[in-house]
Amino acid sequence: MSGLRNIPPMDELLEAEAVQQQLQRFNRGFVIANLKQAVADIRQELRVSGQESSREDLGLRIVTRLDRLLWQTSRGTLQKVINATGVVLHTNLGRAPLCKRALAYLQDMGRDYNNLEYDLESGERGSRYHHVEELLIKLTGAEAGLVVNNNAAAVLLGLNTLAQGCEVIVSRGQLIEIGGAFRIPEVMKQSGAKLVEVGTTNRTYISDYANAINENTALLFAAHTSNYKVIGFSAEAQLDELVDLGKARQIPVMQDLGSGILADLSEWGLKEEPTVQESVRSGADIITFSGDKLLGGPQAGIMVGRGSYVERMKKNQLTRALRVDKMSIAALEGTLLEYLCGDPLENIPVLKMLTTTSVDLAARAEALKQALQGQLQNGEVVAIHTASTDDRVGGGAYPTYQLPGFAVQLVFSENRLESVVRRLRAMEPALVTRIKDNSMHISVRTLNPGDETLLIELLAAACGPKDAED
Ligand SMILES: *Cc1c(COP(=O)(O)O)cnc(C)c1O
Repeated sequence: MSGLRNIPPMDELLEAEAVQQQLQRFNRGFVIANLKQAVADIRQELRVSGQESSREDLGLRIVTRLDRLLWQTSRGTLQKVINATGVVLHTNLGRAPLCKRALAYLQDMGRDYNNLEYDLESGERGSRYHHVEELLIKLTGAEAGLVVNNNAAAVLLGLNTLAQGCEVIVSRGQLIEIGGAFRIPEVMKQSGAKLVEVGTTNRTYISDYANAINENTALLFAAHTSNYKVIGFSAEAQLDELVDLGKARQIPVMQDLGSGILADLSEWGLKEEPTVQESVRSGADIITFSGDKLLGGPQAGIMVGRGSYVERMKKNQLTRALRVDKMSIAALEGTLLEYLCGDPLENIPVLKMLTTTSVDLAARAEALKQALQGQLQNGEVVAIHTASTDDRVGGGAYPTYQLPGFAVQLVFSENRLESVVRRLRAMEPALVTRIKDNSMHISVRTLNPGDETLLIELLAAACGPKDAED
């Protein structure tokens, strides 16, 4: 037990050069709490091992443990992840990475005071909803716009404002559930509107809506079935048919567009999603969509449409509870400005990833393969190839569309794949890959600039000599 007696006392440990350095970075209470934990850890290890150690050795071990504890306890739980899955809008990985213009704007507005709710011209109170609205009008052609917390909130607000206590007609083919517990029938219930289902799962006609209209009908609702597709013997009423019916019977039409794409990507094969502009042109009265899906911005629920309806939304008490903060407004405004005056296909990461050509992806995969070949020659990786992959848009958009992509495929020796995958998740940044055919696929489409260099270091470390723990 003499090892325990050699543990240096607290005041001596606190004087150590390495600990003094940590005291420059962290407050004293935090360092001392972690130092106590480090001493307790080492004490326990000595008890278990019964090992003899000098005072000097123990001091070093404690300081090393302290460094690790401080590193672990001083960082947040959000961490950078390198997305090598080929799923562009991965909800679990934070959906859309932001463009530079949005990030710069966000940083400026976060650091300083701003005119969030202050009218600089009159010197009086202004409205936070004023900020993004002009841009939304310019970009979509709608009369008015409003931004709330997310698209689920936008749908809730729309239903509550336009149809509380009244009936809303929805096709049975559009009673959607989106991942993360968003179900149209449930949202409808929460909004206080009464759901009236028409048609069947696979076929609904405009006459089904027309027949269901009565004096309690307040809204015709269309949901873009963004995360699945009914194929075969199927039919849905078109948005313009709904608009015509709504006009004839003086009932507003609301469309939950889901992803809400502003750029025309038909040239790149992505032509099934209607753009927001197309929906506006169809004449829908209110259109809702997410800020962080195909738009490529921050989490937000965007509503565009008729001025009189948007005005009613703004006055609804619920809007206060669903309101967006200055950070979201700044990030969204920055993103929309990129659409207005920048080069969205080049600078908005999501759009860049979706429009990168196969030739470019193949070249990136080849370059990455060659770089990895130079680094991973210690036996765990038995083969490195490039392979074609089916990348995905994700975020519930284009459910059946496979984006032809390219990946580096790593084949590992006997049973090593799983432990390497686990180690990569534990690293900083973490690397998330796709497992297919008992091998690791690193899709290059979803790598951000700079990720390749990091990824090579991570893989070299993760595929290093076997640890004791494996
Ligand atoms: C994604 C989606 C939603 C939910 O949007 P959030 O911004 O995640 O709240 C609602 N409706 C549709 C059709 C969607 O695709």
